[in-house]
Formats: sequence, C-alpha cells, structure tokens
Amino acid sequence: MSFNIAIDGPAGAGKSTIAKKIAAKLSYIYVDTGAMYRAMALYFLRLGLDAGDREGMAAACGGADISIRYVNGEQNVLLNEENVTPYIRSEEVGKMASQSSPIPQVREKLTQLQKDLAAREDVVMDGRDIGTCVLPGAQVKIYLTASTHTRALRRFRELEEKGLKESLEEIEADIADRDYRDMHRDISPLRQAEDAWYLDTSDMGIDEVVAAILNRVEQVRER
Ligand code: C5P
Repeated sequence: MSFNIAIDGPAGAGKSTIAKKIAAKLSYIYVDTGAMYRAMALYFLRLGLDAGDREGMAAACGGADISIRYVNGEQNVLLNEENVTPYIRSEEVGKMASQSSPIPQVREKLTQLQKDLAAREDVVMDGRDIGTCVLPGAQVKIYLTASTHTRALRRFRELEEKGLKESLEEIEADIADRDYRDMHRDISPLRQAEDAWYLDTSDMGIDEVVAAILNRVEQVRER
C-alpha cells in the first residue's frame, strides 16, 4: 500500500515549498493539485469564458485533458498534451482557478486523477481538499496556514523573483477573496480535516516546518 501525505491550507501558506522538500527527503512524488486547477482555468481563459459563466465552464471542461509528467523530478502539467507549466502561475490564472474550482465537473475530473496517482505511488500531495476528500485515508495530514499578511508578502516575493510585478495590496486583497471563496464553496471547501495536524507557519522558518513534519511522518511510520 502506498504511503500518502496530505497537505492542505490557504494560498501562500508555503504548501508547495514545504511539500517539495518533504517529497525530496523521502523520495516520494510531489503532487501539486493547485497546478491542475490552474491548467483547467487557463483552458477556460483561452476559450474566452467569463468567470461567472459556470454553465459554459461545466460544458467546456470535457474538452480539457489534464495530465502530469515528471521531468527531472519536477511536475509538469499538460493541457491537451501541451506543457502549460510556464503559463499557470500568474494571479489572473490563480483567480480564475478559484472561480472555476467549485464546478462539480471540474472537481470530479481532477479528484479522480489525484486519487489514481496516490493509489499507485507514495506521494506528498498539496491542495485544499486532500485530507478531507481526495485522500481521506492519508497516513499523515497537515493543515498548513499563516496570517493573510505573511502569505501575501511571501507570494509578492515569489512573483518578484520570477520577474512578475504585482502590488502587495492587490495580492493581499486577492488572497483574502480567494480564501473566502475556497472556504465557503458548497463542494469540498477548504477546511482542516478532523485528524489533520494544524501548523501556523507565520513565525516559523521553512527548515523548521520541514523538520517538524518529517518528525511526524517518522512517528507514524514507526507505529
Ligand atoms: O494552490 P493554488 O493557488 O495553486 O490553487 C489555485 C486554486 O485552485 C485555489 O484557489 C483553489 O480554488 C483551487 N484548488 C482546489 N482544490 C485543490 C487545489 C486547488 O479547489 N486541491
């Protein structure tokens, strides 16, 4: 049976940075489920669909084949065979992802892909509904969070490093909006699974968080 680690939390909590490091340490596969929702959002944006057009998105989603491939250990997301990894990190795509992710057809499709992967491989999977819906039987579940301001600042620096200029105020407002949508949608809202470990990383360094989680994993594996 594969060993699954589920990491959920709001935007900018450091999930992907932490999950990648843990996966590398354990030689597990890192699965970034947000990237799949982003690829789907890119597909809708390219079709010129409006964020409010839920019916249009539900009807169109059958035409998007999303898959993932690993190149030198890095996850690449393919949209209809095209590697769209370089195009999914903008705030525009992130915002569209949070507006299209509540659509049942979108969630069903991506959830199935994620479940299949985790059944085959030892994974560290991050997202919003991994511990609650995608992998309710995951051996380790973490709910990773930090204050809105800390998260906005982290996202700002991350984008800056990639040469993308966005205002901090706008990022903070977008993060607050996105949290609200992710936490209040009807299907699979972002929430802490009852058996998840709550970790607020506002005042923690990356290595400290990684060490704490690895320690937790070790304890579970020894049981
Ligand atoms: O984590 P990231 O910012 O890349 O996620 C983009 C959006 O995709 C989130 O705001 C959320 O609406 C959606 N998402 C989701 N379920 C997941 C992962 C992401 O609904 N498991």
